[in-house]
Amino acid sequence: MVYNGVIERYKEYLPVTEKTPIITLKEGNTPLIPASCLGSLIGDNFAVYLKYEGLNPTGSFKDRGMTVAISKACEEKATAVICASTGNTSASSAAYAAKAGMKCFVLIPEGAIALGKLSQAFIHGAVVLAVKGNFDTALKLAREITAKYPVTLVNSLNPYRIEGQKTASFEICDTLGNAPDFQLMPVGNAGNITAYWKGYKEYKEKGNSTKLPKMLGFQAEGAAPIVKGRPIKNPKTIATAIKIGNPASWKTAVEARDESGGLIDTVSDDEIIAAYKLLAEKEGIFVEPASAVSVAGLIKLTKNGYFKNLPITAYQLPIAIVCILTGHGLKDPERAIATIKKPRVLKPDLKVILKEMGYY
Ligand SMILES: *Cc1c(COP(=O)(O)O)cnc(C)c1O
Repeated sequence: MVYNGVIERYKEYLPVTEKTPIITLKEGNTPLIPASCLGSLIGDNFAVYLKYEGLNPTGSFKDRGMTVAISKACEEKATAVICASTGNTSASSAAYAAKAGMKCFVLIPEGAIALGKLSQAFIHGAVVLAVKGNFDTALKLAREITAKYPVTLVNSLNPYRIEGQKTASFEICDTLGNAPDFQLMPVGNAGNITAYWKGYKEYKEKGNSTKLPKMLGFQAEGAAPIVKGRPIKNPKTIATAIKIGNPASWKTAVEARDESGGLIDTVSDDEIIAAYKLLAEKEGIFVEPASAVSVAGLIKLTKNGYFKNLPITAYQLPIAIVCILTGHGLKDPERAIATIKKPRVLKPDLKVILKEMGYY
């Protein structure tokens, strides 16, 4: 069967009709990869899976929401869209707006966007406007503009974004045959945790799964408004995709946490980098720093004994843990290069090279 993107696959769960023009780049249908190395870290009763959302058309999960937001904007005869972005929303909106023949404006915090993401917004022809200030400032401006001018906001405040993004939880249930027991993910503007939780609940209501996962969200230590219980004026972290001080979906993220019996905790930049390297070196998966947050959280909880103290008999074994890997590593090549040692420059001499390889 030909795969035609998340709207066609899950349209009965989405706010679309026959009249909705479907703008798709065949997003979704991303792999759920068993993580043997991480699994052995936690214990025999656990199976860890990685939902690799970096394999979406523009390299992040934002495409799932964008196909619905842009399709609906198209249906409503919009000619222009705008978003504030830490990078991936701008890359995705630029690509889908290009496909739809719409104008796309993106407001980015000056100097805070990873190179790969910026190049995407540029090459897809978006009008990129860098704002002096952080993401929260840019989002406030985008909201003011869309309140008065004929431009559609495609940030996750747009409910169609959340609708599209919830399809990732459907895919996880379809692959596992049920919902997982635990889901770990990064939390930035908090639209995605909102979307997953909505999706899991809807799928269970429809009888497609019999349980709900505990939602375990993680913020970077220097950008952890939900954990600290107050907005952060100057959020700081190397994980630029979640460098957000005042999340738009704060309330629904807290609901997801509390209704599921989960938690929202912090991880440090050092823990993020350690998980980033571990994913690349042991699991063969290259993600951007914000995506490594899920695995950093998994390692932190494992060390804390969170999984050790579970009432094992209450579970069907193995206990399924899913970590969401939200974006591709090539989004932020500078971070990868800064994290590893530079290659040594050698004489073009076989002996010298073999010696370096440890064969001589
Ligand atoms: C947008 C984004 C996040 C954060 O998602 P929210 O919905 O803002 O919480 C995390 N990782 C990546 C790669 C992203 O692009």
